[in-house]
Amino acid sequence: MRVAIAFGTRPEVIKIAPVYKEFKDKGLNPLMIATAQHREMMDTMLEVFGIKPDIDMNIMTHNQSLNAVASRILKNMDEILSQREIDILLVQGDTTSAMASALAAFHMGIRIAHIEAGLRSGNPRDPFPEEMNRMLIDRLADFTFAPTRRAKENLLKEGICEKKIFITGNTVVDAMKIIRERFNLSTIEYENYILVTMHRRENWGEKMRSVLAALKYFSKEHNLKIVFPVHKNPKVREVVYEALGNCENAILIEPVDYIKFLSLLENCVFVVTDSGGVQEEAPSFGKFVVVVRETTERPELIENRWGILAGTSKEKVYQSLEKALKFSPKKLKNPFGDGRASQRIVDIILNEGIKD
Ligand code: UDP
Repeated sequence: MRVAIAFGTRPEVIKIAPVYKEFKDKGLNPLMIATAQHREMMDTMLEVFGIKPDIDMNIMTHNQSLNAVASRILKNMDEILSQREIDILLVQGDTTSAMASALAAFHMGIRIAHIEAGLRSGNPRDPFPEEMNRMLIDRLADFTFAPTRRAKENLLKEGICEKKIFITGNTVVDAMKIIRERFNLSTIEYENYILVTMHRRENWGEKMRSVLAALKYFSKEHNLKIVFPVHKNPKVREVVYEALGNCENAILIEPVDYIKFLSLLENCVFVVTDSGGVQEEAPSFGKFVVVVRETTERPELIENRWGILAGTSKEKVYQSLEKALKFSPKKLKNPFGDGRASQRIVDIILNEGIKD
């Protein structure tokens, strides 16, 4: 069986890395296709996991539009896939890279497997464009790998055939396991800090400003530091540096590699984020998450009391920060997976794939 894996951003690399490793351990050598939608942050993660792409589209341009990204990927994928015999293409998550790669494979009659299928916020425009991307990919896919029971229910509600749905857990838990086994995460140069990440398109501008204003006030009141690896997107950086650049409690740093990020998670007081992956990671470290978004496609976090959906208004965020400070961790069971998702995914592809 000839397997290809397409990816373009930091979270995709983190979440496909254990699947790639599992294929390799089973003697298969997947064709690794990088779109490089986010050049630098993707490369950092590839290095951490020792992955070298076989093909690199290098599509990133300054201030790229979603349509430009999608059209470049469609064109490149057309050439790449037509020159090789591929039986199945794996994509992960909800990026424009994943959506365009899946569509290209569909056009060419190549089977598609979607890792992290069935996540839904319920609002097609929030997160944008991710919610629509994942709906489209799930519709195109022959294998939908749902991390949780709820994700499976979402797929069934949309009429996805049950035979195509497999509950596997989220591969991010496998990725964390790999890093924890290889590296010591206990030492970090900061202490008594809130770990913050924000980058979502729908938060750009005013919403981000009000979240950061609440954080600034709260951190001073409680004498806590803010450690914030700032996303490379200029639209994010502009607001973050304007809001926190002169705040003595805020430590603004460049995006860090996965080892360092997990160390930051391990040692923080709690987390404030609009990231998807960080919501899934924090419970493994016993950390509470203040989700600064209006919706989440990871309700398991809230239901299991590992987090709060704070929205983005200054008052509500401030109240949520107060709650986070009072949180005391319980048993460290991660509701998103058990560390064996990649093994299940590869077994299913190898077994089911042969049957068809
Ligand atoms: N991350 C990282 N370094 C950073 C910030 C985040 O390694 O400086 C990791 C984080 O652990 C998580 C992933 O990147 O696994 C999240 O990426 P992002 O927030 O860009 O995407 P999302 O998960 O929201 O799709």
